[in-house]
Amino acid sequence: MAGNRTFTMVKPDAMEAGNAGAIIKMIQEAGFKIVAMKMTKLSEERAGQFYAVHKERPFYKDLTAYMSSGPIIAMILEKNNAVEDFRKLIGATNPAEAEEGTIRKLFAKSIEANAIHGSDADETAAQEGNFFFAETERF
Ligand code: ATP
Ligand code: MG
Repeated sequence: MAGNRTFTMVKPDAMEAGNAGAIIKMIQEAGFKIVAMKMTKLSEERAGQFYAVHKERPFYKDLTAYMSSGPIIAMILEKNNAVEDFRKLIGATNPAEAEEGTIRKLFAKSIEANAIHGSDADETAAQEGNFFFAETERF
């Protein structure tokens, strides 16, 4: 059965544009409960660890520079079928291909600066949550 938790980050472009509040409102209105939340900034090294799965990709260096360029808001979210439903809410990686009404369609600037992260599987959701949050920071 699909798990009930996913992990997300409001990325630096959306933070800089002042869209964090609108994005969090959409997340809550879609039925996700915020289990953990913090504003923080990744170093380039930590961004590299987070996106280590992409380290052979041509965009990796740019991605880690961008993800460490400003603060982010990290969250663990709870809902039935959380991973899949959240990927639907955020839309395609490239905002040009994202469906109308999705977070990326509304707020992403480019395929790189695409406003928000969403875990791609239950296992990565758990790993990514552990990357940012201690047990005492989850509610
Ligand atoms: P995320 O993991 O951030 O939720 P995603 O799962 O939709 O995004 P991935 O393929 O995991 O997409 O890529 C991770 C991130 O790397 C993307 O969100 C984007 O910021 C960046 N990225 C992906 N593809 C490209 C590309 N072709 N050019 C530049 N940046 C890219
Ligand atoms: Mg991904």
